[in-house]
Amino acid sequence: MDTPELQRAEGLIREIPDYPEPGILFRDITPLLADAAALRAVTTALAEPYLGRFDVVAGVEARGFLLAGTIAAMTGTGLVPIRKAGKLPRPAASVAYDLEYGRAEIEAHDDITDGTRVLLVDDVLATGGTLAAACELVGALGGEIAGTAVLIELGALGGRALVPGVHTVFTV
Ligand code: AMP
Repeated sequence: MDTPELQRAEGLIREIPDYPEPGILFRDITPLLADAAALRAVTTALAEPYLGRFDVVAGVEARGFLLAGTIAAMTGTGLVPIRKAGKLPRPAASVAYDLEYGRAEIEAHDDITDGTRVLLVDDVLATGGTLAAACELVGALGGEIAGTAVLIELGALGGRALVPGVHTVFTV
């Protein structure tokens, strides 16, 4: 999947050294999101392997929301936000997971129920902990993972081991 549109989109991802902390090379997708052709190319590429096989797109806070919402609107499906702990008024399920330093927790409402087919989307796959926890969360609500799709995979961090079969548009 290496079309001229996707090559151009990849060139719009900005690299910010030492953000949000020293040693992290932050992949800033905001220039890509602001470009209509690039946004369309990457959201089409994210959803393409799963078309017709999901009922909702679930995006992980915060940049996953932007990709998930766009895919949901393009494909005529629903959108479910997976939020960081403490942001939802009535969380139905929560999953805690390890970060590189410390722990985090994500939550969702019960808009995913038994048998809901869920396409899970995020911007970056690093260690894989976030996406693996999101898969667990969908399962806890009774949903079925129709697919996992990430815009940028940081290959050296090996996150794919925690999310077998994850579909990624760009690997760096
Ligand atoms: P991980 O759980 O380690 O796979 O981290 C993935 C989550 O952290 C995603 O929700 C990303 O938005 C964010 N993230 C991790 N590393 C980066 C990075 N280098 N640039 C931008 N976002 C990142």
